[in-house]
Amino acid sequence: MEKFKKLVDSLIVYSFFWLVLACSLTVGVFLLCNQQFELSLGISAAIALASGVLSSLLVARLTVLASTQAFRAVWQAVWHVSPNGDLVPAPKLGHITHGREVAEALNSQVYDLASSSPTKQEPSAPPSNLSAQTPVSLIQKVNDNSLSLAELLPIPVIALDKNGNISFANKLAASYCGLNIDEMIGKSFASCLQMSFQNDDTLEKWVSQVTANSVSAHNSWDRVKLTSADGQTSKLFDLFASYNKDNSSGYETLLAIFDHTSKYSSEDDSTSYVAMAVHELRTPLTILRGYIEVFDDQLGSSLSPELKAFMSKMSASAQNLTALVSNILNVSRVDENQLNLTLQEADWNEVLTTICKDLELRVKVRGKVLELDLAQGLPAVAVDKISIYEVVSNLVDNAVKYSPESTKIIIHSSLGKDGSIETVVQDFGIGVPENAIPHLFSKFYRSHRSGKRVGGSGLGLYLVKAIVVAHGGHVWVSSKEGEGSSFGFSLQPFSAVKDELSGDSSGIEREAHGWIKNHSIYRK
Ligand code: ADP
Repeated sequence: MEKFKKLVDSLIVYSFFWLVLACSLTVGVFLLCNQQFELSLGISAAIALASGVLSSLLVARLTVLASTQAFRAVWQAVWHVSPNGDLVPAPKLGHITHGREVAEALNSQVYDLASSSPTKQEPSAPPSNLSAQTPVSLIQKVNDNSLSLAELLPIPVIALDKNGNISFANKLAASYCGLNIDEMIGKSFASCLQMSFQNDDTLEKWVSQVTANSVSAHNSWDRVKLTSADGQTSKLFDLFASYNKDNSSGYETLLAIFDHTSKYSSEDDSTSYVAMAVHELRTPLTILRGYIEVFDDQLGSSLSPELKAFMSKMSASAQNLTALVSNILNVSRVDENQLNLTLQEADWNEVLTTICKDLELRVKVRGKVLELDLAQGLPAVAVDKISIYEVVSNLVDNAVKYSPESTKIIIHSSLGKDGSIETVVQDFGIGVPENAIPHLFSKFYRSHRSGKRVGGSGLGLYLVKAIVVAHGGHVWVSSKEGEGSSFGFSLQPFSAVKDELSGDSSGIEREAHGWIKNHSIYRK
């Protein structure tokens, strides 16, 4: 009611000002006509009357526009949250000169109602392991009491305001982040919390997207890393965020942290341990492969077809084992920021053909055929041949593993719209369920359905992405369950990066990272 009273008072002052101005104008016109131009009393009165009518019309229009500003904003908000609301932008309340508080209060009610309405489509579904009634969504429904409720919650909770600055943090959040609450409040979350994500879908990116385009949204991230200010310690957790535009409580984005440091660290430790153990396999494996090649060279022509097939299988299995060893070693290097690449100029179709020749045997012994569909006239790429081999080999191995029925695998190369060189590995196998697609490139992720049928580590695609991103490219996937999948990646043309080449070096040095910081160099 206080807000309405303020609106009414401001409109009275506004219309009074314009009315006084209109009356003064009418009198002024009359005096001007009668005394300055010496027109008759009747004509002067007629002209003054006409100007009085015109200025009254203007005053009426200005007053009506001013008094309906708040109403128009609420109207626009209602349309914005309606099922076809994507066509109508959210109202900008900053321009409202009369009744901004009323409009803000009513708009936040509209957004609150829309966010709890089951008919409004959310841009992204809440994480499956959290029900709709999570502590965070409960907090959002209450006003000032939310502070004490958030304090009682046994999890770290942080709220951000309109500008992405921290407006609230419960005590657990402050101690979890190793900061005082006072040090956090008012600071931008990105500068205050050193968070790293598994891919370039970072919290900062999401916040700026939803602030621009959404009324309410949820998102979650697995395995987020928080590094302490001195860089000495880090914690690993799952993060859940809920956004509500112009939320009446003043907290637009709420973050809840679910700590899994011990679980995730022990997984990482076991990868490092396995990597250490696997390292010892490299030498005997290389020797084994060498002997198999010698046998094949010396005896291949004299062997019966059956023995020749055994020899091929033996060689393919040794290659598979080498690929697995190198995957594990490379993942551990990526995690420790020790996978270094040297990008050099190369003809991509030539590189791809050489890799495919090498993979041919592995594909053939599992009853598949590898086809190449290469676009001609592609520009030279900037590529690290050793690590890109891992990328293609992982994608082809997956295409083979997850295509039990079909035989064909096609590798396409083409020029992308942005000038990058695109490669797609297409199979006609089991495909990936839609809800699994966003997680495919995360460390250790395995789709439950395919995971049960086929063995694997969940590390291949994680490595693929880290290597491609270090090349300055990106990865994507399109898939339909039961019909097959296409996994693609892009590489930059050499011309786009050649300026990075320093005088005496043989190539452009890059590092592959598993973590993307909020302010990552890889974010474009
Ligand atoms: P792995 O194959 O060892 O499990 P990856 O990281 O290579 O690990 O793949 C992660 C998951 O992605 C796999 O477990 C599988 O569920 C899914 N996947 C990858 N490639 C394909 C494909 N070509 N077809 C269907 N599912 C795939």
